[in-house]
Amino acid sequence: VNELELIERLCRHLPLNASTVVGPGDDCAVLDLGLADRRILFKTDAVVEGVHFTAETDPRLAGRKALARCLSDIAAMAGTPTHAVITLGLPPDCDLDRVDNLYAGLGDCARQHKVGVVGGETTASPGSLWVSTAMLGWVQSDRCVLRSGAHPGDALFVSGELGGSLASGRHLSFAPRLEEARWLAEAFEVHAMIDLSDGLAGDLRHLLKASGVGAELLAHAVPVSPAARAAARQGGRNALAAALTDGEDYELLFAVSAADAVALKDRWKSRFPGTKLSCIGRVMSETTVTLRDAQGRRTLPLHGYVHFQEP
Ligand SMILES: [Mg+2]
Repeated sequence: VNELELIERLCRHLPLNASTVVGPGDDCAVLDLGLADRRILFKTDAVVEGVHFTAETDPRLAGRKALARCLSDIAAMAGTPTHAVITLGLPPDCDLDRVDNLYAGLGDCARQHKVGVVGGETTASPGSLWVSTAMLGWVQSDRCVLRSGAHPGDALFVSGELGGSLASGRHLSFAPRLEEARWLAEAFEVHAMIDLSDGLAGDLRHLLKASGVGAELLAHAVPVSPAARAAARQGGRNALAAALTDGEDYELLFAVSAADAVALKDRWKSRFPGTKLSCIGRVMSETTVTLRDAQGRRTLPLHGYVHFQEP
């Protein structure tokens, strides 16, 4: 079974309860714990040596990534992170300096985002080093953005530039789009949002599936990163394919009413002048995903992103 099939299988009979507003299947769980206008966001994520970082990765950056991946999921709900607890899997004879540095990187990232690291646990790991982060956050009840609200006719936007994240090292140094996402949810009615961890081609499908819709993407509008272009020149790979499938971009993909598209682009540009915002296509009622380029319109090939080691 692939990862998605496994998740579906595991989630089939999960116990939920009355305070679960959104269970498995979005970027975070959304909980109603009785706070008047707030929903609680809850998320867990792990980084594993050999999958998300290597033995050669600066441990500070590996620790940073362990926290930042959860931050990116809180951002996808337009939320604010508050607390984290950490579980550390330690291989035999793990160098103590390495663990210290990992925690230093994790701690710096937490401080930067005013996240309290309020507990944790260590366990022996017979294989490699791994770090699991569980994170809490909150969002104003009427500002919480799910994956499931995209409507036919909506404009699809993506922040930043996509592809080449592993080659460029951006997968270790990315800035979670927390501020951007909160601003979006405050200034506009964002119908649906997801953060890009598995690649645009895959994550777009998650958003569309949750919303029961399809989309048409414009090939020329997909923002291809300089790293993806450089890698394409060297490796003879298609740069657009890299932007669609490389993964680990940690950018925001979201849907807004087409009527908001022009104002959104304008206001984003003055609010976040250093970060690109691209309208990459539109939501369609047919549940297929197509790519329009100079040759016409065709079904978007999906090469699901599989985690792989840094070169
Ligand atoms: Mg996510």
